[in-house]
Amino acid sequence: MPEVVKGFLILTCIFMPLERIFSLHNQKIFRLGWATDATYFFTGHFIGRAGALVVAVTLSMMTDLLNPELQSKIASQPIWLQFLEAIVISDMAYYIAHRMLHEVPWLWQFHAVHHSIEHMDWLAAVRVHPCEQLFTQICKMMPLYWLGFTKEAFAVYALYSAAIAFLIHANITIKFGPLKWFVATPQFHHWHHSKSPKIHNKNFAVQLPLLDLLFGTLYMPTKKMPDRYGVSNSIPAGYLGQILYPFIRKIKMLNNRLKLGIDRYFRPLPVILGLSSIAISSLTVMALINHMDIPTFIASWNSQQVTVAELQQGKLKPVILIDVRSPEEYAEDRIGESPLVPLIDIEAGFGIKQVQAIARSIVKSNQPQPTIVLYCARGGRSVKAYQKLQKTNLKLAFLSGGITAWREAVPAKQDAEILAPITRSLPETVRSN
Ligand SMILES: [Zn+2]
Ligand SMILES: [Zn+2]
Repeated sequence: MPEVVKGFLILTCIFMPLERIFSLHNQKIFRLGWATDATYFFTGHFIGRAGALVVAVTLSMMTDLLNPELQSKIASQPIWLQFLEAIVISDMAYYIAHRMLHEVPWLWQFHAVHHSIEHMDWLAAVRVHPCEQLFTQICKMMPLYWLGFTKEAFAVYALYSAAIAFLIHANITIKFGPLKWFVATPQFHHWHHSKSPKIHNKNFAVQLPLLDLLFGTLYMPTKKMPDRYGVSNSIPAGYLGQILYPFIRKIKMLNNRLKLGIDRYFRPLPVILGLSSIAISSLTVMALINHMDIPTFIASWNSQQVTVAELQQGKLKPVILIDVRSPEEYAEDRIGESPLVPLIDIEAGFGIKQVQAIARSIVKSNQPQPTIVLYCARGGRSVKAYQKLQKTNLKLAFLSGGITAWREAVPAKQDAEILAPITRSLPETVRSN
């Protein structure tokens, strides 16, 4: 079962009974907007993965700005201390980003989508415009990655902050006593969603209510809770309408200001622009998740790919695995005895001859033509090599997820045992190249 479906079922099993037993407002489980928010849950999962990748890639390109000494000091602390520090640092960053979302008018158009919720429950937490999700995730994660918290501390922090995000939106009336100052609760965050204009722009933190106390934006009365949630903007109820909303609104405002007459003559323009930006951003997200640039990702649709599981099950058997990474990466680890033909050599032309020679060494011995399975670290370079080799008449495929996906499933010492039934062994002369 995919991870995201498992997550949805686990959260439903936790929050559905809690919201029945300790319900704050009397409302249906499948309340207005439930299907829209369920759609956000599944799409948001992939946007979250893309956001994490954007942060990691950005920092890997700015190694000069990293401070290895500080990073090793932080990583040497106990996990519990790193976890507490991560909460304070990321919530400070979120507080600033969240205030900007409220105070900068064009950012508010994106954030208004989250505030359009009129029935609070755990699922309402995920109604966040993809642009806002990327923006706040980058603001929160960048300092944590930069400071070098360990993977373990980061995992505990990520689990805790996700749990808190669902809890603070939940339709529950549980009180948390003095803990309410250190842990964000429904009592704290529900007021942030109040429809009453008197209580707008309060409670910007999402984990530490103390930050709002410090900056004078706290509103957390002990005995009452809001009775109406939402915003005065009229925001569409469906997923697509909400995704397009900030763009359509911006174009309408420009139209009014510049008197372009878009309404009369170019009515479909905002929809076309909105849909194109969704298509481009989805393509970018999918390409990033697959560790490829956009042209390579598009090329991969036309290329025969094989997953680690399919390869193990004998799909495309017999195969020859060829590593297209650099000699340095090959020296560190490789799949079994697979030969190396770096992408750079394939692009220069002589690598193509090497691959053909490898394939010929098998055919010579009267065996059926094997499939050449190209692999790299994650898939990007093997698709490029595939494109270059397409003009030969070799049977080709690339390994989806590359050696990274292979190593997640197969420890190095089991390579030989797993590869024996599916690969063609190469003559000694080829292996030693
Ligand atoms: Zn807000
Ligand atoms: Zn909220």
